Amino acid sequence: MGDRRAQIAAGLAQTRQRIAAACASAGRDPSEITLVVVTKTFPASDVEHLHALGVRDVGENRHPEAADKAAACAALGLHWHYVGQLQTNKAKVVAGYADVVHSVDRIRLVRALASGRAAASTTAPLDCLVQVSLDPPQAASGRGGAAPGEVAELADAIAEHDTLRLRGLMAVAPLDGDPDEAFAALAEQSAALRRRWPQATWISAGMSGDLEAAVRHGATHVRVGSAILGTRPTAR
Ligand SMILES: *Cc1c(COP(=O)(O)O)cnc(C)c1O
Repeated sequence: MGDRRAQIAAGLAQTRQRIAAACASAGRDPSEITLVVVTKTFPASDVEHLHALGVRDVGENRHPEAADKAAACAALGLHWHYVGQLQTNKAKVVAGYADVVHSVDRIRLVRALASGRAAASTTAPLDCLVQVSLDPPQAASGRGGAAPGEVAELADAIAEHDTLRLRGLMAVAPLDGDPDEAFAALAEQSAALRRRWPQATWISAGMSGDLEAAVRHGATHVRVGSAILGTRPTAR
């Protein structure tokens, strides 16, 4: 227990240091960046350690694992970020416990999240990011994301619902591409989105391997798992 907390504390300190260094070289203030610690595959006890170490934003990518952990840690008052691909039939229930969904990539999902949130016990709107694919058009990455040309329509659909709040964009850099190139393209998409929806200021980009590139290109949220919690037992 003590060892595990010390281990997580070390990973967290190192990650915060990386964010601070990336901000310093980009001329940004670290307070502009929210660190979302991705806890998928790790136990609720790790979430408790993270909370004790000052983390308030945690990310999950699968239901029902996410629901179970959110319920186990309900007393901690954390912000739960759903960052994984989401099936339409699970969206209603996810809308009940998530605070932010990063992976909105189709219209049917918007409708399911809106009605799920309307039925939830909270009156707070669900924060939504449109996930945009940065893969070449023909690549079937299987990692989700709307085509760049679909972003405006999705943003409009989210903004139509009182139970949802359009916050911005999310993306995952292509596996074998240049993250700087990918995140520069994302920054351009974000600028275009903000011309229509000025409040959509969040850019969720950057993971353990490429957070520096994301910070260089304006990320407001980085999603970091393995650099803090260690190698996941399964590859996801
Ligand atoms: C797992 C995951 C992360 C974190 O990845 P690491 O490489 O472990 O930092 C970030 N974003 C999404 C969407 C993920 O599924």
